[in-house]
Amino acid sequence: MNTDCLFCKILAGEIPANRVYEDEYSIAFPDINPQAPTHFLIVPKEHLASQAKALVEHEQLLGHLLVVAANLARSRKLDKGYRVVINTGEDGGQTVHHLHVHLLGGRPMHWPPG
Ligand code: AMP
Ligand code: ZN
Repeated sequence: MNTDCLFCKILAGEIPANRVYEDEYSIAFPDINPQAPTHFLIVPKEHLASQAKALVEHEQLLGHLLVVAANLARSRKLDKGYRVVINTGEDGGQTVHHLHVHLLGGRPMHWPPG
């Protein structure tokens, strides 16, 4: 656990979050500032600061987060599609420096993103 990290604090139960999903490696909860009718964050239990820190040893974990996103999307009936986003670093718009996957759905998305 990284004591300065917001998502580590959520994982430790120090900051509340509505865990809509949890397993050995990850949790998912609604984004506090939703950008779509459905907006969940899928967060690994291991503190990894960003996608930019990913190494071959994280392959299984990163794959797992995408499968959790797919399961959540199916359970929320996002049958028309959705978007999975990993904001990375300053230019990527990352504000919480604990890797997380955004699952956004329930409205059409635009391209290119802002
Ligand atoms: P990012 O900008 O990709 O680093 O995403 C961080 C996300 O965390 C933002 O979309 C925030 O709205 C969200 N967030 C910040 N604090 C909380 C919280 N306490 N509970 C749920 N989501 C949060
Ligand atoms: Zn953390």
